[in-house]
Amino acid sequence: SGGGGGGGEECCVKVAVHIRPLIGDEKLQGCKDCVTVVRGKPQVQIGTHSFTFDHVYGSSASPSSSMFEECAAPLVDGLFQGYNATVLAYGQTGSGKTYTMGTAFREGGHTGIIPQVMNALYSKIEKLKNETEFQLHVSFIEIHKEEVRDLLDSSLSTKSETANAGKVNVPGKPPIQIRESSNGVITLAGSTEVEVRSLKEMAACLEQGSLCRATGSTNMNNQSSRSHAIFTITLEQMRKLSHTDPEDANVNESMNEEYLSAKLHLVDLAGSERAKRTGSDGMRFKEGVHINKGLLALGNVISALGDEKKRKEGVHVPYRDSKLTRLLQDSLGGNSRTVMIACISPADINAEETLNTLKYANRAR
Ligand code: ADP
Ligand code: MG
Repeated sequence: SGGGGGGGEECCVKVAVHIRPLIGDEKLQGCKDCVTVVRGKPQVQIGTHSFTFDHVYGSSASPSSSMFEECAAPLVDGLFQGYNATVLAYGQTGSGKTYTMGTAFREGGHTGIIPQVMNALYSKIEKLKNETEFQLHVSFIEIHKEEVRDLLDSSLSTKSETANAGKVNVPGKPPIQIRESSNGVITLAGSTEVEVRSLKEMAACLEQGSLCRATGSTNMNNQSSRSHAIFTITLEQMRKLSHTDPEDANVNESMNEEYLSAKLHLVDLAGSERAKRTGSDGMRFKEGVHINKGLLALGNVISALGDEKKRKEGVHVPYRDSKLTRLLQDSLGGNSRTVMIACISPADINAEETLNTLKYANRAR
C-alpha cells in the first residue's frame, strides 16, 4: 500500500476507518458495541451492512499504533519528492477526529497524527540537511460558515480574547481569500504563514492554533464541531550545489530539479451529523447547511477522483463547490496523495451516524 510516484494503477485516495473504544459516558449509559471487525480483513460490519476499506484500526485485532506508519508516513516521504498530500479525519462529533489527528494540543497525552508527522519530518530533515537546505512554513486555519479564520493570527488569540473570540474576521482586516495561480497552485491570501526553524517551533504553532480554536468554541457554542480545521505544512527544499556534475549533460533539467516545494494538509473536518440533529433554531440550522456544503463537496470530489472510469472520461471534479475543496484543490487528485480516516463510535446509540459515516467513506473508494 505504499504509493508509487503519481499516476499508475493505484487509486490516489486511500480510506481507513478508526474505531474508538466505548468512552465513559457511553459505558455509563450501558451502550453496547455494535461494530464488528472481520478478523484478518480491513472489513467492518454493522447490523446487516458490511464495508471493506484499505485499513481498519482500533479493535484489538487491529491496533491503531500502525495507523501513522501506514496512512501518514508515506505522505511525509512523498513531500520530500515534491508530492502534495492531504489527510482528512471525517466523522460525527465525538467520534475521535481530533484525537486521531492530534489537532487539540495535549501535553503528555495521546499522540495523534500531526505530532507524529512533525517528528517524522524533522528526523528526515536531520538526515538530509547536509545535502539539502530546507525551509518550512505552517499555517493553521478554520473554515466556518464558508469563511476562513486564521488560527495563527496573534491578535486573535492573545490581545482581547473575549472581544475577538469566535469572530471569523478581525474588524479592519480584509477577509482571507483562496487564490489560484496560473500554474494551478492554491494559496491563501491574508492568512499567517509562520516560518518554523525547528520541531519545537512547529509544535508551538499547533498549540497556539489549537488554543485559539478552543477559545473560540467556548464562546460560540462549540463552533469547533461545526468547522473544518486545517493545519498545513509547506516544505521547500533546495539542493546545495557544492560542486557541479561534469557528466550532467542537460544543465537545464538538473537546474529544475534543485528546487522542490510541496505541502501537506492535515484536516480535522466538521462533525458529519445531520443539521436536523443540531437543534431547531434557524441560526444553527444554517451553520449545519454551510458545513454540509463542504462535506458534500468533499464527498463529490473524492468520489469523482476515486472513480477510474469517471476520471478517464474526464468527468468534472467539483472543487469550486465549497471553500474546503477549493483550498485543497491542488492537494487532492492529480499527483497528490489523499488519505481519509473515517472515525466512528462503536456504541449502539450512534449506529445511525456510524452507518452514515461508513457509507460516506465507502463512496470515497
Ligand atoms: P471529535 O473530534 O470527533 O468530536 P474527539 O477526538 O474529541 O472527537 O473524541 C471524543 C472523546 O473520545 C474524547 O474524550 C477523546 O479523548 C475520546 N477518544 C476518541 N478517540 C479515542 C481513542 N481512539 N481511544 C480513546 N479515547 C478516544
Ligand atoms: Mg473535534
